[in-house]
Amino acid sequence: LILSLIHLVCHDRHMSAPAQSGLYIVATPIGNLGDLSRRAEETLAAADIILVEDTRVTGKLLNHIGKKSRMMVYNDHKSASDREAILDAVRCKIVALVSDAGTPLISDPGYKLVRDAQAAGLYVTTIPGPSAAIAALTLSGLPSDRFLFEGFLPSKTKARTESLAALKTLNASLIFYENGSRLGAMLADSLSVLGDRKAAVVREITKRFEEAVTGSLSELSQRYGAEKPKGEIVVIIGPPGAPEAASDEEIEAALREAMVRLPASKAAGEVARMFNTDRKALYELTNRWKSEK
Ligand code: SAM
Repeated sequence: LILSLIHLVCHDRHMSAPAQSGLYIVATPIGNLGDLSRRAEETLAAADIILVEDTRVTGKLLNHIGKKSRMMVYNDHKSASDREAILDAVRCKIVALVSDAGTPLISDPGYKLVRDAQAAGLYVTTIPGPSAAIAALTLSGLPSDRFLFEGFLPSKTKARTESLAALKTLNASLIFYENGSRLGAMLADSLSVLGDRKAAVVREITKRFEEAVTGSLSELSQRYGAEKPKGEIVVIIGPPGAPEAASDEEIEAALREAMVRLPASKAAGEVARMFNTDRKALYELTNRWKSEK
């Protein structure tokens, strides 16, 4: 099917905006058709082929804009020779790549195709737009200056806790895609691995029942242990809090250890930096220890 489509396309090129042949990565709405950008609409209308995850889903979007462009199912499990055939079309046609909703390549197919198209020196461009990950971050009320997008965690507890453990020391908000039936278990595992951080469960963004439920991981895991929410869900977990203040005993032990290696004034400086504490007070302590000997 892929080869026959490609054969067709390289002979019947209709010129309409955008005019340049290439691969167009087109973001589509995540729930509200009003979020389809003008450029996305023009590109889909002009495309010779639209690579889709599901022809029924994208068919509805095309209906909405009153166009009947040719669709072809694409995913990253297609063979290298299938991708080659698509790239042959990209050379002389406008090929748009969409996913069911949001931005292609973000927990969705497209990465291998973009990689191969660029390696072949073909024109690749993006028509940016909605993505649930970024939309949820903006609604979470959690720090947005540094974040890590993890996508879907594994569904089995052992693999999930291992993935979470790898994120534990990261000083960033964490973004996960989830579904209602796994949400309670995911939040419980996050609580046990990451500790009781602030978090948000953001649901049905841009749709009728959009909501952002914020709280600590213990509050959220209690709530969603009992309730399985419907619809599409993004979980955001805030960064770790400031480390707990070290005890006097810990600071003194570090100072004694440093004094074995360093002169007293340098030891006091090193430990003061380590625990963000007063260097002069530590130096006086070293003098007191010396006089007690
Ligand atoms: N590529 C898409 C994007 O950029 O948003 C994401 C695709 S991923 C296969 C689908 C997941 O995104 C859903 O399971 C859900 O976690 C999240 N999602 C998509 N639309 C959403 C919405 N309207 N509200 C909340 N989460 C959404």
